[in-house]
Amino acid sequence: MPVVITVLNSYSGWALAAEGALLRDPLLASVGALIGFSGAILTTIMCDAMNREVVSVVLGGVGTKGGVAAPAGGGGEKREMGDWRECSAERAASALATAKSVIIVPGYGLAVAKAQYAVADIVRSLTEKGVRVRFGIHPVAGRMPGQLNVVLAEAGVPYDIVEEMEDINADFDETDVALVVGASDTVNRDAEEDPASIIAGMPVLRVWKANTVIGLKRSMGSTGYAGVDNPVFYGENTEMLIGDAKDTLSAVRDELSRA
Ligand code: NDP
Repeated sequence: MPVVITVLNSYSGWALAAEGALLRDPLLASVGALIGFSGAILTTIMCDAMNREVVSVVLGGVGTKGGVAAPAGGGGEKREMGDWRECSAERAASALATAKSVIIVPGYGLAVAKAQYAVADIVRSLTEKGVRVRFGIHPVAGRMPGQLNVVLAEAGVPYDIVEEMEDINADFDETDVALVVGASDTVNRDAEEDPASIIAGMPVLRVWKANTVIGLKRSMGSTGYAGVDNPVFYGENTEMLIGDAKDTLSAVRDELSRA
């Protein structure tokens, strides 16, 4: 839906530009062209980030560039992933406090849980302890363009530690802890490694390359927006902190303040 909105926004700009041309009003034509181009650029960025064709998004919202049908908004494959390890808020706090570098990857779950204030407190606490903390933001994280940037800004997270996917992706190799807060599709390893996956080819944040991954979600029975399970949550270096992100992050924050 957001892609359709950006396409329509672009059309409205071009309509305005045409009106300006007909009325011989250069200002109206220029403003229309500006709106038209802005909408077109945003549409392209969002489709690239999802590895999907704009035509397939607009005409029904299904299909990847590889031609494999993808169910938008759930209902995809669910396969046996194996065992996973649970971790407590105390263990998560200890892993974070003893790390040299931490990358937090927020997704839709952080926004829906309204966990941005707890995460901002955790960032402050870790920074005071000398830990280097940054955020890695995927271009289509959440359900609206820029949603995670907005909620983090609302909680007072400094802009200079919030980085785009392309700028931070190479750094996971040298990161002690990747904290995945309510993100799934945008950190799904299958997008890079399983050509049969319905999200194959979608650029993702490579959280699994960190020494330790701590994943936050409410249960292991559900998937992300694309409807596919995520092998990262079952990885050998992954521990899962299960529960509503606001509750679990508040518990981590309280543990950190006690340490
Ligand atoms: P996903 O939708 O892939 O995953 C959300 C994760 O959050 C799940 O693991 C879910 O697990 C967890 N979650 C949900 N609620 C909570 C909660 N209260 N507390 C803790 N965890 C929670 O999110 P991503 O941000 O990774 O990916 C966004 C997806 O949305 C992409 O597929 C993208 O293409 C799509 N999209 C994005 C748009 C945009 O403009 N940004 C527009 C339309 C679609 P659980 O349910 O177990 O808690």
